Amino acid sequence: MAETVSLRQLPSVDRLLGDPTIQTLLPLYGHRLTVAAIRQTLDRVREEARAGNPIPSPEALVVRIAQHLQDHLAPTLRPVINATGVIIHTNLGRAPLSAAARAAMDAVARGYSNLEYDLPAGRRGHRTVHAEQLLRELTGAEAALVVNNNAGAVLLALTVMARGWGVLISRGQLIEIGGGFRIPEVMAQSGARLVEVGTTNRTHLQDYEQALAEEPDIALILYAHTSNFRIVGFTATVELPELVELGESYYIPVMADLGSGALLDTAAFGLAHEPTVQESVAAGAAVVCFSGDKLLGGPQAGIIVGKAEWVEPMKRHPLARALRADKLCLAGLQATLMHYLRDEATTHIPVWRMIAAPVEELERRARRWQRALRRAGIRAEVVEGRSTVGGGSLPGETLPTRLLALPVPDPDRTAAALRRGDPPVVARIEEDRLVLDPRTVLPEEEDALLRRVVESMRP
Ligand SMILES: *Cc1c(COP(=O)(O)O)cnc(C)c1O
Repeated sequence: MAETVSLRQLPSVDRLLGDPTIQTLLPLYGHRLTVAAIRQTLDRVREEARAGNPIPSPEALVVRIAQHLQDHLAPTLRPVINATGVIIHTNLGRAPLSAAARAAMDAVARGYSNLEYDLPAGRRGHRTVHAEQLLRELTGAEAALVVNNNAGAVLLALTVMARGWGVLISRGQLIEIGGGFRIPEVMAQSGARLVEVGTTNRTHLQDYEQALAEEPDIALILYAHTSNFRIVGFTATVELPELVELGESYYIPVMADLGSGALLDTAAFGLAHEPTVQESVAAGAAVVCFSGDKLLGGPQAGIIVGKAEWVEPMKRHPLARALRADKLCLAGLQATLMHYLRDEATTHIPVWRMIAAPVEELERRARRWQRALRRAGIRAEVVEGRSTVGGGSLPGETLPTRLLALPVPDPDRTAAALRRGDPPVVARIEEDRLVLDPRTVLPEEEDALLRRVVESMRP
C-alpha cells in the first residue's frame, strides 16, 4: 500500500531530535517534553494519514512539533494590551502597577525579607506592620489591616463585628459585584443576620430608626457603596455621616464598604465625586473596607481601616490568618501608598495617570498611531469617544477621549484576530466600528500594538 510506504518515510524520533530547529527547542522545554511532543505529533500524523491525509514534509513536521510545544506549554496567564478604554478592567487584571511597586515586589521576591521579622529587636515580628503605618497616615484612621481582597475584608469585618447578631442595611445597597460577591451571601457566610430596611429606591433615616427600635439584636449598620450601578429618578439614601450619628445614639458602629476606595478626589478630573476613604474615616465610620487594585491602583488586596477597638480584634481572628496578604502584595501596596504620600499619584500610578490624561495628549497619541498605520498602508480614522473608569466605580461616568477607528469590513473578525496573536490586544467595538483607545494603552506597548494591528489586518 502506497500509504504504508510513505508512513515508513516518516523520520524517527531520534532523527527529529537531531534537527537544528528541534535542537533550539531542547533548552527551552527539556528532553522529556520535547520527545513527548515528537511522539504525539508523529502519532497524529499517522492517524491523519490513515484517514487519507497527505504526509507532511520533514520541515512541516518540525513546525508542527514546535507549535505543539508552544501551544501546550505556553503560560495561560499572560500580558494583554488593553485598548478598550476601560481603566480598571476586572477581566484584564484591574490596576497595572507603578514601576516602584513592581520593583518593590521584585526585590522581596528574589530573596528573603523581614516579612515577619523585627530587625532592630532580632526576633519575630508581624507582617501586618508593613502597610499599616502608611494607611493610617494617609486615611487618618487609628488602625489598619490588609487582607488578600476586599471580599475577604468585608467577610472578616462582618464576622468579627456581627457574627450571631443582626446587621442593618438599606435594600438599595444589597449589591452584587461581578465575580460572585453578593452582600446577602457574604453576610450569611459571616454568620450575621441580614436586616433589610427601606426599599430598593428609597431608604430614609426613620427606616433605620424603626428597625433599631424593633430589632433587639442589631450589632452593626452596614453602608455599602453602590459602586457598579446607579438608581436614578425617585430615590433617597441616607449618607454615611447621618448613619454614624444615628448609630452613636444607639452605641452601634457603622461599617462602610467603599469598594473602590479612592484616596484622591475623582471630581478633580471631570468625574463625579467618588466617596474617599479619608471622608468616610472622618465621618466616623468604625471601619472602612476597600480594594487595593481598584482606584487605589495597587496590587490585589483588601484594606480595612478604622477604630482600633474594632480593627485590632480582626487581626487576631483565625479568618485573618486565612485571608492574609502575601509579601509581594504588601511590598507592592507599600510602594503604591508611598506615591500618595509623596503627592505623585497622578504621575506615577498608572490608573491615575490614565484618569488624568488630558484629551490633547490622547489626541496626539491617536494621531501618531494613525500616521504609523498609514505608512503601512492602513487608513485609520481618529474619532471622538469616551473612556470609562470601570472596576465597579463611577457607573455611567465617562472621560472624553480620542479613538483610532480601524477601517475593517468585519469588526468582530478583526477583533478576534487581535486577541489571538502575541501579545493579545483587546479592542472595543462601537457602532459597528473597531476602535482602539490610547488612554489604557501603556506607552511602552505602542509598538507592539501597531505591529499587531498591521498583522491582524493583513488579508
Ligand atoms: C469590588 C467590590 C468588592 C469586592 O472587592 P474585591 O477586591 O474584588 O474582593 C466589595 N464591595 C464593593 C462595594 C466593591 O465595589
